[in-house]
Amino acid sequence: MKPSDIGLSARVRGIEPSGIRRIFELMAEMQDPINLSIGQAHYDPPPELVDAACKAMRDGFNRYTVTQGLPELNALVLDDVQRRFGRRPESCLLTSGVSGGLLLSFLCLLDPGDEILLPDPYFVMYKHLATLCGATVKYYDLYPERDGERFRVDLAQVEAMVTERTKIVFVNSPSNPTGAVLRRGEIEGLCKAAERVGAWVVSDEIYDLFCYVDDYASPVEFTDRCIQLGGFSKSYGVPGWRMGYATGPAKVLDALKTLQQFSFVCPPAPFQYALLQTMQHIDLTPYREQYRHKRELLARELHPAYALSPSEGAFYAFPRLPRNAAGEQVSSDVFVEAAIADKLLIVPGKAFSARDTHFRVSFAASDEDLQKGIAVLNRLATKFA
Ligand code: PMP
Repeated sequence: MKPSDIGLSARVRGIEPSGIRRIFELMAEMQDPINLSIGQAHYDPPPELVDAACKAMRDGFNRYTVTQGLPELNALVLDDVQRRFGRRPESCLLTSGVSGGLLLSFLCLLDPGDEILLPDPYFVMYKHLATLCGATVKYYDLYPERDGERFRVDLAQVEAMVTERTKIVFVNSPSNPTGAVLRRGEIEGLCKAAERVGAWVVSDEIYDLFCYVDDYASPVEFTDRCIQLGGFSKSYGVPGWRMGYATGPAKVLDALKTLQQFSFVCPPAPFQYALLQTMQHIDLTPYREQYRHKRELLARELHPAYALSPSEGAFYAFPRLPRNAAGEQVSSDVFVEAAIADKLLIVPGKAFSARDTHFRVSFAASDEDLQKGIAVLNRLATKFA
């Protein structure tokens, strides 16, 4: 039966299944894989956070909360944003993960025919949600000019791309999949380009904790026309809790809230209480420092076999696929299949990009798994050289 025979909406028919679904299928069949394909922290959540969630459930916090989430938790999030960026957005809405915030922001801002500027490479969800809204996606290129240099924004390119139809200029720093952190000037330039044509900046800051360079900047510092999306999934090790937040001007956050009322209703109540009780007391620095060490390990051990741009944030590295002496690159399918034959799971770069030149390694893994994965990668580099 064709999808059109079932009666699926045109909206859903426009969405292709994830390019990395095959990896998940293979993973389910494999015994003891070396899994460097995962997009979540490898540690358990802080015990006091889990205790607070259990207590909240036992104490009866199992009912709906108000749509925007507990006012005290909203205030804590805004305090934190103000402390870090020196500006306090007008309003905050607790969301069902950053995914919930993304869906609500796109639905509230994008009409069919509107344009959204996404980075390339990008986190897979963005383009599908934009398609769902009938928007036209344009990509601004982040690839470095030379192998091994940092992924960067070409502001002249962005300036040339924005038009009066541009509704959202999208920012994701630290980035999934590249691990790049945008420089202050790049963020400011993106905000200026958006402001010039009256567009909004939507900023996915889910990896903000995992930043290994000084001077992390957010669009919040440069423009009021910004929806900032942040979350607890990665930093607190609780992706299954579905807890995130959106901040921004009240006029747009009110629209997100109305839509939340008729969709997600409210984020999970006991987890809101747990975060409210513990957020201010939990120091996440030791968790971040583990990843700082792991990214250094990976960079050191993959050199010189792979051209690798520095991972400045998140828990991803995005090396170039090997090339032989004639400069011909191995196809990502062949490379990933060869890795899988050696029990190593990684993700081909084409799942996140129009280009098929890189692959994503997640270092959210034990040092032991990381070392095993590095050994496989170094063998593959020799094999395909
Ligand atoms: N944005 C990025 C860049 C991500 O990597 C992810 C999770 N992989 C999300 C958003 C979604 O996160 P959440 O669990 O908060 O919905």
